[in-house]
Amino acid sequence: MKKKIYLDYAATTPTDPRVVETMLPYFTKSFGNPSSIHSFGQEAKKAIEEARDKVANLIGAKSEEIVFTSGGTEADNFALKGVAFANEKRGNHIVTTAIEHHAVIEACKFLEKRGFKVTYLPVDGDGLLNPEDIKKAITDKTILISVMHANNEIGTIEPIEEIAKIIQEENDRRDSSLRSESPSPERSEGRQAISNKQSLLLRSKRIYFHSDAVQTTGYLPLDVDKLNVDLLSMSSHKLCGPKGVGALYIRKGTRIISFMNGGEQERKRRASTENVPGIVGFGRACEIVKDGMDEEAKRLTSLRDRLIEGILERIEAVRLNGHPARRLPNNVNVSIEFIEGESMLLNLDLAGVAASTGSACSSSALEASHVLLAIGLSPEIAHGSLRFTLGRGTNEEDINYVLETLPKIVTRLRAMSPLYNL
Ligand code: PLP
Repeated sequence: MKKKIYLDYAATTPTDPRVVETMLPYFTKSFGNPSSIHSFGQEAKKAIEEARDKVANLIGAKSEEIVFTSGGTEADNFALKGVAFANEKRGNHIVTTAIEHHAVIEACKFLEKRGFKVTYLPVDGDGLLNPEDIKKAITDKTILISVMHANNEIGTIEPIEEIAKIIQEENDRRDSSLRSESPSPERSEGRQAISNKQSLLLRSKRIYFHSDAVQTTGYLPLDVDKLNVDLLSMSSHKLCGPKGVGALYIRKGTRIISFMNGGEQERKRRASTENVPGIVGFGRACEIVKDGMDEEAKRLTSLRDRLIEGILERIEAVRLNGHPARRLPNNVNVSIEFIEGESMLLNLDLAGVAASTGSACSSSALEASHVLLAIGLSPEIAHGSLRFTLGRGTNEEDINYVLETLPKIVTRLRAMSPLYNL
């Protein structure tokens, strides 16, 4: 039988059979609508709340801070548009990076058309953002900063905690200047007995910090308090859960408006009947992934490094994209000069290896990836890039097979390339 090796886990993952098993009753026996007050509905509601606890538990959040969405894209859109429109009266400036996922970049472009100003910060040659650039970009009009936790194409892990520290300093400065202002009218008139803290919160001019953690959830330990983020996006299908479900973590007190209007689901933050089987599956996937995450990260890191070293050793004129050390345990991204990524991909596929040229979303588009261009690659070199992303099913034999197969493909394609041997 022909070998089939899946090395595209960043695009999506197979759903864990234990997850499928947990989901199944919610299609048939326990099919109730969680908003119904009868026992069918209450059974589904209970299952959703249990799943919410599991998702919250994975990232150190409180359950009520988790809003289920249809995936990472919706979570990103909700965070950006929800915070932008809820805070537009006090500022219209958003800061993000040039290497975000399309879900963030396109939401920013949408907001730019509606009067918001967006600063897209550059990254260095390894894809790393300099936190000092965040400091320089902040203005009095800044309301939101969005920086991804790890990049989906090149795997670089961004310095989220350092960035959060800078934002915290700015928020402390804003709060202390608020405190020195005259008390709010409500207090001075004594009409409402609200505490200083509440008054400050109501008038707060803080900058909210969002991070897209779609690629890190399940691979690296996440703690929203340690990271000090206000909003965090997750997607179930990247961690062996079902597709079409994700979540946005929203820190209590964050001013945000929902953009799905309708019923009162998700505490009025996201209307529409909940995807009960999906949510239950996502919760189970979070529970499974939490167990043994450290060992799995170590295993993947060692396989990743073996693949990187093997490619660099066996093929000439190759570069590793992304940070050599601050990178996801499962990400390998290389540019192989003088040949097209698409040709390599097709040949690898014929040999039974599924990889990618960039993100799943851009691999059907022929433009060079905005991430590879942002780290300074020329469009030609960017076009010769390949991404292998490893996962639970990957083993040493798979890596050996790629290391045997890829150099042969490269030699064959280079022999046909008019650019090689010039
Ligand atoms: N953000 C990042 C970093 C991603 O890698 C992806 C998917 O590839 C998304 C967002 C979108 O997630 P979803 O496919 O669940 O909409």
